[in-house]
Amino acid sequence: MPEAEPLSAVFQRLIATYGPISLLHYMGESNARYYADKDPLGTAGDFITAPEISQMFGELVGLWLADIWMRAGSPAPVHYVEMGPGRGTLARDALRTMKRVGLEPQVHFVEGSQALRALQAEAVPQAQWHHDLGGVPSDAPLLLVGNEFLDALPVRQLVKTAAGWRERMVGWAEDRFRPVAGDKPMDAAVPESLKDAPESTLLETCPGAAAVMHELSRRLAAQGGAALLIDYGYAEPQTGSTLQALRAHTKVDPFAMPGEADLTCLVDFAILAEIAQSEGARWQGTVTQGAFLRALGIEMRAAKLAAAAPDHADAVQRAMDRLIGDDQMGTLFKVMGVAGPNWPQGAGF
Ligand code: SAH
Repeated sequence: MPEAEPLSAVFQRLIATYGPISLLHYMGESNARYYADKDPLGTAGDFITAPEISQMFGELVGLWLADIWMRAGSPAPVHYVEMGPGRGTLARDALRTMKRVGLEPQVHFVEGSQALRALQAEAVPQAQWHHDLGGVPSDAPLLLVGNEFLDALPVRQLVKTAAGWRERMVGWAEDRFRPVAGDKPMDAAVPESLKDAPESTLLETCPGAAAVMHELSRRLAAQGGAALLIDYGYAEPQTGSTLQALRAHTKVDPFAMPGEADLTCLVDFAILAEIAQSEGARWQGTVTQGAFLRALGIEMRAAKLAAAAPDHADAVQRAMDRLIGDDQMGTLFKVMGVAGPNWPQGAGF
């Protein structure tokens, strides 16, 4: 296949012809290109995620799903669905744990990247792949997981200017991409409470995350099941831009190299909880990752792993600290539980 034209050149041409593009467009295309043909995870990549830090993460997620499934009466068949499974590590660890208690779901991966699909097939050969939730069967309850999936979906930003609310666009000036305010009034898109906000107030929304939440909540309400959504995010509404770019484990300018750095935004868990309830699903709560993993017994699991392999005791301790430490992933990462209306309350919420 011919080498694809650099995204930066595509964007420059678009902007030269039609004027600034929306940040939503910029982030969506950048991440689609970024994930399309490479594995960004791990020490040699651009960022590392909880399941890649330790097997304990996927095991405890599997334990949570197995526990709620048993208390729901062990329905069969049942589908394990993972959104953006990366290397398939979380699924592999969770499925191994679930199997110990007799839970062997059909496996469905929602994944856009061909490169990652190939890695996922090595970790979980029996999986079936889908481009979105639409292809996931509707005949049985869902046990759904998404870890660092929603944060990769593109956001729209609205900014208050002297002339009113405008969409934040991306233009090209003095040899670089720069955020600029759009020229169309956007006041109608802003909630009443923010109409008179001071100049420079910035409102960020993620239409893709909202759409995913609507669909999965509708599915849980109709099919039964439970979902865990885990991401870097906030549980109370806030304003301000949270856009950031990571490359080789370092924060870089999100406008410097589109398609070559991972663009993410914090997830607004407050709005996701509202959406879940509006679709008739039961929001179980949103807690910090540290509190969630402690409640599920990560300290006991770590002690057991350390006792089984004393040479690795230090490494296990360090991994646990990364997952639950307040100064690491323990507080910034949140875990949200959602379930069908007739499903029990999950552990840890
Ligand atoms: N959950 C994994 C990987 C997180 S990276 C882990 O915790 O390690 C984000 C994942 O979401 C990748 O698998 C990426 O390819 C996928 N992804 C990002 N945007 C997507 C989209 N719009 N549709 C489908 N998959 C997407």
